[in-house]
Amino acid sequence: MKFYSTNNKTNLVSFKEAVLNGIANDGGLFMPVEIPKLPQAFFSSLDKLSFKEISFIASRQIFGQDLKDEILSEIINSTITFDAPLVKLNNELNILELFHGPTLAFKDFGARFMANVMAYLNKDSDREIKILVATSGDTGSAVANGFYKVKGINVVLLYPSQKVSKIQEQQLTTLGENISALEVKGTFDDCQRLVKQAFLDKDLLNHCNLSSANSINIARLLPQSFYYFYAYSQIKDKSLPLIISVPSGNFGNLTAGLIAMEMGLPVHKFIAATNANDVFPKYLETSVFQAKPSVKTLSNAMDVGNPSNFVRILDLYNHDHNLIKQKIFSTSFSDSETIEAMKEIKTKYNYIIDPHGAVGYLAMKKYLSENYYNQFNGVILETAHPAKFADIVEDVLDTKIEVPERLQTCLTKKKSSIEISKDYIDFKNFILSN
Ligand SMILES: *Cc1c(COP(=O)(O)O)cnc(C)c1O
Repeated sequence: MKFYSTNNKTNLVSFKEAVLNGIANDGGLFMPVEIPKLPQAFFSSLDKLSFKEISFIASRQIFGQDLKDEILSEIINSTITFDAPLVKLNNELNILELFHGPTLAFKDFGARFMANVMAYLNKDSDREIKILVATSGDTGSAVANGFYKVKGINVVLLYPSQKVSKIQEQQLTTLGENISALEVKGTFDDCQRLVKQAFLDKDLLNHCNLSSANSINIARLLPQSFYYFYAYSQIKDKSLPLIISVPSGNFGNLTAGLIAMEMGLPVHKFIAATNANDVFPKYLETSVFQAKPSVKTLSNAMDVGNPSNFVRILDLYNHDHNLIKQKIFSTSFSDSETIEAMKEIKTKYNYIIDPHGAVGYLAMKKYLSENYYNQFNGVILETAHPAKFADIVEDVLDTKIEVPERLQTCLTKKKSSIEISKDYIDFKNFILSN
């Protein structure tokens, strides 16, 4: 399969180049030239397939020409090592728990798949790969975990100083080995800008073999479509309209869902749930996309003022604003609404949700209040385990949350980070000297 740049459809690269370069040389993001539909037989046999089997079949659609079945199967086997259960709140609303991976966030799926793919693609090379990751919290730890101790690959994480939770910071800064954590005196957008600039810096590219691992990497994005199929497989009455709410920041998760829909998943409506960082709902409303500096909220992994995957959504629907509005509903919610939703979900359903999932719940409710359905299947993606945001959740719900053991171990380790300014030159110097 070839991949084109969202800036120029005739700028084509191979699968290997798309994965190892991360971003196109014209600054665009890669998209597959074709999104093949899955056969009807796949959908009618879904109930009988395991999560691994579903992931294998779905991934072969896009990666099948480039990865032999046995390689792909190995990659899936080492990626999908934990479940994504659909938990019922009531007859209509379900939570898709995507936090059962090692770092307790949905990003584990994409990060592990990508790490396995890159290690495979680079196995015969003697040149080390440096992976640059700007993170607002969860990306970095998921990626770092995926690549931890992988030979020939070094990971450089950039995170905004004092803008990630204590637990997130511990996860980012305590791995060591082939993982370095840069603490940037700026915002997440600064971190993202530094990484983008590095990829356009010819001088730097001559000196080292850079790659990215943000949701812009196609090998991270596409595997995030697997669990949409798996969620659907877990639904009893598949004839009812399927409505999926996705807590969104950089819109990678949502884009993967849209791709699953293009592959044939019968989604009635996607909901892009956002916090105060509301450039996407504003775009749907006005047809004007206006990037803004990010603002800090309780759902901090969604604090993105210029969502990188927006260009992919435009591309997927040929920049047709009306078409995008037809497929996606979007609204934004404040922190105080998020807090009320967390309480409501605990009281009404005895379910503890994290702030990101709570925004997803609010957006689902809002959509349903404006659109009446007699019956439907509602799926809200729960993107992180509440223990990752224990300080907020415990305070809001006045209850103690048990920290899963896989998280407990990193909390006691010593933080090791390197402070840098938000000036590009500092970042460049770090990369060149390490
Ligand atoms: C990254 C993240 C999001 C946002 O996902 P995008 O793919 O960037 O839209 C939402 N919730 C949590 C917990 C995250 O870590």
